[in-house]
Amino acid sequence: MVETGGFHVDIGFELNEEQLQVQKWVHDFAEKSMRPVAAEYDETEEFPWPVVEEAADIGLYSFDFLANTWADETGVMLPVVMEELCWGDAGIALAIMGSTLAVAGIVANGTSEQVGEWVPQCYGDPKNLKLGAFAVSEPDAGSDVGSLRTRAVYDEATDEWVINGTKTWITNGGIANTHVVVASVEPELGSRGQASFVVPEGTPGISQGAKFHKLGIRASHTAEVILSECRVPGRCLLGGKDKLDERLARAREGKSSGRQAALATFESTRPGVGAQAVGIARAAYEYALDYAKQRKQFGRAIIENQAISFKLAEMRMNIDAARLLVWRAAWMGRNKKTFEAGEGSMSKLFGSETAIRVTEQAIQILGGAGFVKDHPVERWYRDSKIFTIFEGTSEIQHLVVARAISGMRLQ
Ligand SMILES: Cc1cc2nc3c(=O)[nH]c(=O)nc-3n(C[C@H](O)[C@H](O)[C@H](O)COP(=O)(O)OP(=O)(O)OC[C@H]3O[C@@H](n4cnc5c(N)ncnc54)[C@H](O)[C@@H]3O)c2cc1C
Repeated sequence: MVETGGFHVDIGFELNEEQLQVQKWVHDFAEKSMRPVAAEYDETEEFPWPVVEEAADIGLYSFDFLANTWADETGVMLPVVMEELCWGDAGIALAIMGSTLAVAGIVANGTSEQVGEWVPQCYGDPKNLKLGAFAVSEPDAGSDVGSLRTRAVYDEATDEWVINGTKTWITNGGIANTHVVVASVEPELGSRGQASFVVPEGTPGISQGAKFHKLGIRASHTAEVILSECRVPGRCLLGGKDKLDERLARAREGKSSGRQAALATFESTRPGVGAQAVGIARAAYEYALDYAKQRKQFGRAIIENQAISFKLAEMRMNIDAARLLVWRAAWMGRNKKTFEAGEGSMSKLFGSETAIRVTEQAIQILGGAGFVKDHPVERWYRDSKIFTIFEGTSEIQHLVVARAISGMRLQ
């Protein structure tokens, strides 16, 4: 921090020593353990257990690593890690990072005892790997999360919650050991009548439905989750019953229910998704830049044509701009700054749209070679698309920004 006579400057664009070390460590893992097997998992669509195991062995897939990453006061460490992992391979990266969604759900809503009990169970240890899943989306409730149909009913006699419903598009759904499920406890109250529950490993009544076959990120497992008379103990309600009852009472009276806090949580997790998209975009840009210097047509390297070099300049500029938006939002989230203009959404929106544009341009620069599986750019193009869809579509991100800057409840 620099004193500037009256105000503090605590901003910088260089990574510190620790961040650089972690960046290099993750990059090496991405290069040596993810890239060589990326095409294979894309083809087979199997969950990359050996890679996740290796990540666990070196401490990359662990709650300790995530906690240390979160502890970074600049907020930038997490996006740095995400970018490198997705530079390696987005599908495998999401297999490694998928449990983080469940952790975020537990941390955002749980008591400190619940965090201490359930979060380690989303990772296990290298000899006994565990996965977590965060199940919100349903066939009739995607962007419109207020209209969830999954119901949780309290059984006072046994102090249990009985959950029934179908979740869809769930990362690690059905293969996770711990599922965090969002369900409606009082449907008339919409999103204000919802609560989050941990469904611990081995609970009867939770099962995997159909596994989805995807355009991209095919190493990441996505499936339906069916909850049928699924009974969880009262202590699995995140935040506890007293807090829920209080919140419901306030919502019934039409008072504020902490919705702003939920929005702030989303705003602070979205930069991570933006960073993942930046990782794919950077992979494609670097590959296209190398190719453009090697490939000769008309007796010169194709990069010597402005049509190609300007494309690369544009790609690099957009990637840098996306990363800056991601880092700003991550820093704001970590330092509890108010997201006045939907800065978290901006970073996810711009990062994901940039990834699509950049990977598409990379295919163009490779020409026919970009269209076939001999080169990874077609895979990166397919992988990039999901980032404009999950964790809030691009349209929803526009809506968040538009509402934030206007102060109006725009549609
Ligand atoms: C691979 C993958 C992994 C996923 N992982 C998870 C997970 O782990 N957990 C989980 O809970 N969910 C997960 N999802 C679900 C994901 O978050 C949803 O797909 C997403 O929120 C969009 O919902 P939807 O698919 O129902 O689309 P819809 O909501 O039906 O949207 C369809 C289209 O309409 C647009 N639209 C909708 N409402 C509006 C509006 N008000 N204004 C303007 N446009 C609008 C959307 O932007 C979109 O273009 C995953 C999805 C995929 C594909």
